Parts: sequence; structure tokens; C-alpha cells
Amino acid sequence: MASQDWMDRADKVVMQTYGRQPLVLVKGEGCRVWDDEGREYLDFVAGLAVCNLGHAHPEVAAAAAAQLKQLVHTSNLYYTTPMVELAEELVRHSFADQVFFANSGAEVNEGAIKLCRKYARERHGDGRHHIISMRNSFHGRTYGGLSATGQEKFWKGFEPLLPGFIFVPFNDLAALEKATEVGACAVLLEPIQGEGGVCLPGPGFLTGVRQLCDKKGLLLVLDEVQTGLGRTGRLFAHEHYGVKPDIMTLAKALANGLPMGALLATAEVAQAFVPGTHASTFGGGPVIAAAAKTAIGLLSNPDFLFQVRQKGDYLGEKAAALQKNFPVIKEVRGLGLIWGLELHQDGTPVVTACRERGLLINCTQGNILRLLPPLIVSKEEIDRGLEILTQALEAVFP
Ligand SMILES: *Cc1c(COP(=O)(O)O)cnc(C)c1O
Repeated sequence: MASQDWMDRADKVVMQTYGRQPLVLVKGEGCRVWDDEGREYLDFVAGLAVCNLGHAHPEVAAAAAAQLKQLVHTSNLYYTTPMVELAEELVRHSFADQVFFANSGAEVNEGAIKLCRKYARERHGDGRHHIISMRNSFHGRTYGGLSATGQEKFWKGFEPLLPGFIFVPFNDLAALEKATEVGACAVLLEPIQGEGGVCLPGPGFLTGVRQLCDKKGLLLVLDEVQTGLGRTGRLFAHEHYGVKPDIMTLAKALANGLPMGALLATAEVAQAFVPGTHASTFGGGPVIAAAAKTAIGLLSNPDFLFQVRQKGDYLGEKAAALQKNFPVIKEVRGLGLIWGLELHQDGTPVVTACRERGLLINCTQGNILRLLPPLIVSKEEIDRGLEILTQALEAVFP
């Protein structure tokens, strides 16, 4: 009972903030992970859209290891070289002119909120501090991120939240236009709501948001923490929709598993941050930046992204075909390699049944099975994953 022993020890000394799967993982390679008792799993969670290049990617590991022996940390009192090269890569591949580095999605969303308010105050004076965010969104667990998150279940027990956030339904331009009347500085949204259940923007929604922002003088902030870095088959999800934000946040896959976040902005907006206005001790540190620079070099390759789109279409078609045999599946939706299978019932037993058969998947919102395989997944692995998912659905809904 090696696993049980670890779990018992963990539950004694680690705070109980997660509903963890009863699994102790000790090793990963590509799309597979192993537990401490030697069982192998096909991983269609990828650390929640983090290990986009798969586990233990040799080039990322080598870049981090080399830097680990060279220089680990200096603080941002000084310049270091990996962060310069990484920022140049991010700027080269995006709408942005400048980057601020931090350590997580929540932390860069905090940065985005601060930047919006600072910019708006300089530009328009006081009174335009509100940020319009979407219902069913997810922006992280710090007070700023939590206050921007449009799901009351995450707020419970933590009020009062940060003031100045207004929520409108995703895909509702009329509600958004109405909300702008309160004195807002920005609209903050995920191009595809991930944690909210893989909810895609309707036709014209994101271009409508962009036009509205331009008309009302609001900043458009896209939280691409989950959808960015190749997940949807484009380097950034907004590229699918023909819009450009003023600010974008990235994290999760940026260093393929090492903690890093990046806040990207146009030069016009970024100039609102001056020395002393914002900081992060570890932000842009050499080891993480070296890993991220290697990761983005691989993720931004057009051939690689083309394959993600092809494999994503393949996975999506196979997942949609499951609906014929399993009426419990209400809807299948996704883009690239982020897919949600919305069920009419609780999805947790399916997650368990998959795990027992050697496949890791996630369930969000209670009833939406979320598939986030590493982007290096092969067609054979997709076949195998969906075969296990089919068997699990058969076992749970005979
Ligand atoms: C995961 C996620 C976050 C929070 O990132 P952390 O690194 O956990 O703080 C924020 N926004 C979106 C869209 C996410 O998916």
C-alpha cells in the first residue's frame, strides 16, 4: 500500500484545498505518466494544459538544467539574458511590444488589472476603474483574480472581494454595451472559457467586443492562460477570431511545467508601468526563462501548430461520434486540443472509470469532461484515449 501511505501522510500535513485523485505520480514521459506502484497512464490532462510539449521534454529539460548550473537567480535589480531573449520571442510572435514576467496565471492577471487601472487613470482621470468580466469565467484565486472570476462558488467565505468588477454573460454583446455605461476601463475575458467548461465564443462575439472597446475607449484584455501557447492549434486562440487585444496574459504552458506567467501589452498601454509600479521577485528568472524560450521556439513552429489543428479535428470528430452511442453526452465542443464533453449527469464516475483503465481526464463544472492532451499526442494515442473513454462510458452508463 505504498500509494495509500503517501496519501495519508499528505492529507495530514498538506492543506486540504484540492479534491485530489487517489494517485501518486512519480514519473512522466511524453503523453504518459507512472504512479509509485508502476502503473502507466495515458495523460489527457497534461497538468491542466501546462505540459503542452509533453512530460520531461528533453530540450526544455536541457535548457533549464544548463541554466541551473550557470545562474539561478539575481532579482530584478539586474538584467539577465534569458528573459531578454524570451521577451523578444513573445513580442515577435504576438501583437505585443512589451512583456512583464511573473510566476502564475493569477499573478499576471493581477498585473493586468493593475495595468488597466493605471493606464485608464492617466488617460481619462478618476472614475473609470471598473473592469467588465464574464459570467462563468476563471481568472485565478488571488483576490484580484478571484474578484474578476464570474463564479460565485469560488467567492464563498472570502468576501469582501476587490471592488470594481462587473459581470455580463459570455457571448452577450448587448449586455456588454450596457455595462460600459458605469465607467469602465477594460473588458477582461478568456477567448474560450476553459475552467467554465470549454465554452467557445459565438460568431462575431470577439470582433464585436473589440469594436465596442474601440468605440468606448476600453482596453481589451485576453486571458490566454489556458488557451494560449498552441493549445487551440494557433499560438494564441485570438488568432482564430481575427482580433487583437491590448493586453494578454499567459502562464500554464509557458515554461512547459515550470512556473511562469507573462503579461503582454502594446507599447501605448505598457508605458503606464514605470519603475516602482509593479514587481515580482522571481519573475522572469533565468532558469524558467531559459526553459520558456526553448518551449516557445517549439510551440510557435507553423508545422507543429498545423499538426495540432489536424489532430484536434480528428479528436473532435471522434468525440462527437460518441454522442450517437451515449445519449448522456449533451454536447461536444472544442478547438485544437481543448475539448469538452458536456454530460446530462455528473462526470466524476467517468473520470474514475477512465483512471482505472489507464487514462487521465478532467471533469469541470461537475458534468463537463475536459480533454487536454499534450500537443505532441499521436493519432494512435488519441485512438487509445478515446477507446478507454468509450469503455469507461459503457461501464458507467450501460
Ligand atoms: C489556470 C487559469 C488561471 C490561473 O492560473 P494559476 O497559474 O493557477 O494562477 C487564470 N486564468 C485562466 C484562464 C486559467 O485557465
